[in-house]
Amino acid sequence: MKPSVNVTQNVDDTEENLEKCICKLCPTFRNNELAKFSPNALFCARGESKIPSKIKTTNCYCLGCDLFIKHGLVISHLCVHG
Ligand code: SF4
Ligand code: SF4
Repeated sequence: MKPSVNVTQNVDDTEENLEKCICKLCPTFRNNELAKFSPNALFCARGESKIPSKIKTTNCYCLGCDLFIKHGLVISHLCVHG
């Protein structure tokens, strides 16, 4: 289970950061069609996906994301609700 640590305070919800978000390339994102559900992407800033069904997780690309590294984030699968 994902630890309930609030990691959303470090990253700002900006257009610039949205462009850096590589979730759209991630298999978990594509397979679960997370683009259709709020907040669509940039989960490190906006919080987990509001998708009502359970997310079937595969790879998480966050670890290769510039924002993830820059902000020292440690928890992957940021889109997944608990
Ligand atoms: S850390 Fe993950 S959720 Fe945040 S911008 Fe990068 S790919 Fe997107
Ligand atoms: S938070 Fe991770 S698992 Fe979720 S869509 Fe973004 S890269 Fe994929």
